[in-house]
Amino acid sequence: MTNPVPSLTLNNGIPIPQLGFGVFLVPPDETATAVTTALEAGYRLIDTAQGYRNEKGVGDALAQTDVPRDEIFITTKLVNGQHGHDEALAAFDDSLERLGIEVLDLFLIHWPLPMFDLYVETWRALEQLLADGRVRSIGVSNFEIEHLERLANETDITPALNQVELHPEFPQEELRAYHESHGILTESWGPLGQSRGLLDDARIVEMAEKKRRTPAQVVLRWHIQVGNVVIPKSVTPHRIRENIDIFDFELDETDMETFTELNVGRRLGPHPNEFDLV
Ligand code: NAD
Repeated sequence: MTNPVPSLTLNNGIPIPQLGFGVFLVPPDETATAVTTALEAGYRLIDTAQGYRNEKGVGDALAQTDVPRDEIFITTKLVNGQHGHDEALAAFDDSLERLGIEVLDLFLIHWPLPMFDLYVETWRALEQLLADGRVRSIGVSNFEIEHLERLANETDITPALNQVELHPEFPQEELRAYHESHGILTESWGPLGQSRGLLDDARIVEMAEKKRRTPAQVVLRWHIQVGNVVIPKSVTPHRIRENIDIFDFELDETDMETFTELNVGRRLGPHPNEFDLV
């Protein structure tokens, strides 16, 4: 068994494991198996989304596991096509049914879609779900500072967390600083650079070899030491186990500086102000 995953505390006092299991692009019929492997490996945070079409697979794994429900932190996200107050409430109900749970741990607005100008109204629906006790925490994803500022000015509750693209080539320093000064946790998506070259970088490979670790492990360790919540994805059992086995070593100052050199401002996904897929 690997060392346990530490927790961070959301701005409402609720703990969240600092490392979890993401299931973007995990095929629906493979999701229950992958989540079961992750739970067995010690993961206690599962990150899905309505748009991933695999909430049912997550629910099947939850129904089968011996791990008590209150030890597992489930995040799902509102699909883009359901922005708006009543639409968001209806979509939330459907998620709980697919997940087979009574209360969700964290519900996120997946993308701000500023071109439709509905995220403030949608956020009020999430505030209602929180007040009604149907979800324990609410947050956002892919929100830029300007979107967070609008929520701060026009609504009551500060998001507990903002899940954004974040990896060594795109460390989101300005956004992270904003989060820190407003009590919002930063959660990294695409933390391994989505298998698009980051793990082959000679500086990371060399650092990993010196520490007798894998490139994925040193990159995930960087996220932990920066203070992010991190949710790597894999369907390969040995990688699922490898990705959580990072709590018995540390990066030193020189290693952290090497990571600073990797920052080239390379965004892999779309800019949140432009992404309008519904
Ligand atoms: P990731 O950076 O976690 O990369 C996943 C890929 O890395 C895998 O498909 C595999 O090819 C490779 N990989 C995993 N473990 C490895 C290892 N140990 N060694 C070598 N290669 C390894 O990218 P991601 O899946 O896009 O992001 C993680 C999670 O973040 C998703 O599953 C999802 O839950 C979330 N996410 C959210 C958004 C959003 O808009 N909010 C967008 C993308 C992803």
